[in-house]
Amino acid sequence: PTPAGRPDVIVVGGGIGGLSTAFALSRQGLKVRVLEQAPEYGEVGAGLQIAPNCTRILDEYGLLDEAKSLGVLPENMVMRDALDSRELTRLDLRDLERRYGFPYMVIHRSDLHAIFLRACRRAGVELLNDQVVVGYENTDGGAQVTLADGRVESAPLVVAADGLKSVARRDLIGDDVVSSSYVAYRAAVPFEQVKDNNVAEKDVTVFVGPRRHFVQYGLRGGEMFNQVAVFESPKALAGEEDWGTPDELDAAFEGSCETVTKGIPLMWRDRWWRMFDRDPIETWVHGRIALLGDAAHPPLQYMAQGAVMAIEDGWVLAKHYARVAAAAPQGAEPDWDGALAAYEAVRVEHCDRIQTTARAWGKLWHLDGEERLQRNAILGARDTYDYGFTDWVYGPTALTPDEEPAMFEPIPLDSAVVGEPLSDAA
Ligand code: FAD
Repeated sequence: PTPAGRPDVIVVGGGIGGLSTAFALSRQGLKVRVLEQAPEYGEVGAGLQIAPNCTRILDEYGLLDEAKSLGVLPENMVMRDALDSRELTRLDLRDLERRYGFPYMVIHRSDLHAIFLRACRRAGVELLNDQVVVGYENTDGGAQVTLADGRVESAPLVVAADGLKSVARRDLIGDDVVSSSYVAYRAAVPFEQVKDNNVAEKDVTVFVGPRRHFVQYGLRGGEMFNQVAVFESPKALAGEEDWGTPDELDAAFEGSCETVTKGIPLMWRDRWWRMFDRDPIETWVHGRIALLGDAAHPPLQYMAQGAVMAIEDGWVLAKHYARVAAAAPQGAEPDWDGALAAYEAVRVEHCDRIQTTARAWGKLWHLDGEERLQRNAILGARDTYDYGFTDWVYGPTALTPDEEPAMFEPIPLDSAVVGEPLSDAA
């Protein structure tokens, strides 16, 4: 039994991962306390793509209608060559919804975060701010965190959802973030500002090109338009400290097709996101301290699954908790360790695949020269309705390793025949 005032679970970090997990666990009747370092709960940034493996979970949480009312359901996801704008391949998102049973959605990051924040408030999650966690320790029958002001808080379970630069990860694993030398610029602008740029307002479009890519989609019912410009920084490659600056943005996108070229001046120039991930690790659970979300598996964002994986993590953890709680004799402590082992057994493998594939996907997007043409030939040959490479990502989230679908093996580039019709027209 939990002493009065002591939560069942402490979640460190109130990002999308922490809040969605706090909500999922409180739905199981647990008393959850979130410790967030920032003075307020909120999200910086622009749009977020959420695939059917996530909208399925939002539906189960009773949050999908609210998300739909704030987001956009695009019609297609289209990949184009960033130099000559030629279409390479597409997903028909209406058909995709039929296949997976749930929609592919784009939503403003702060809107999704706010949906979880409201859900947590309704569910009675304790949401604390100005709580900087500086240390983690296992205790008898639980774990504790130390805060910057010296306070110590404990619970049977501590979930560390403290993001890419996780303190828990530093203490428990001690690895470093890996720089990709790529940097992202974002912009969410009124649609008015792009209406003459020949944009596909109902689609998610990804322009892929040498050392760069550019993403566009509508947000907030089409009133706003989201753009992400990503490129490799020559200054980062040269080992300079001050990398990813706006002059590099402009230089990187020179020679791109018209829609991309017209989009670049609209990017926010006062803030940019250097892109880091980490190597996958096998151990996320250390006693009663569990890593979750970016703290456990920060990806490069090319699969658009980072926030989605964090939401899946919380869902899986809550399901396994529910299972062990139902099996526990009346009045006994549920088998937390069993729930955590089951969480780790299935999520580590899946997220490792996403992280690894995201790195490979990034390489494929950013090819130049002959390899670019080979890529274009391979993608151009794909049937729009072939779901071989999406089933393992967009299908239902697995609860056990046995449920995890086989992974699509990408075709090696050297098997591609570069035919005349897809030769370089630029
Ligand atoms: P964070 O969002 O980083 O949250 C961590 C929280 O912990 C923060 O609130 C922080 O203040 C708090 N915290 C940190 N340290 C402490 C501490 N010591 N004490 C207390 N609190 C602390 N994902 C998708 O699914 N779809 C997309 O389309 C997509 N696009 C992306 C585009 C870009 C350019 C980038 C960079 C990422 C994208 N992602 C996308 C990835 C996604 O943004 C992240 O994976 C996701 O936000 C991770 O959530 P999180 O809650 O784990 O971590």
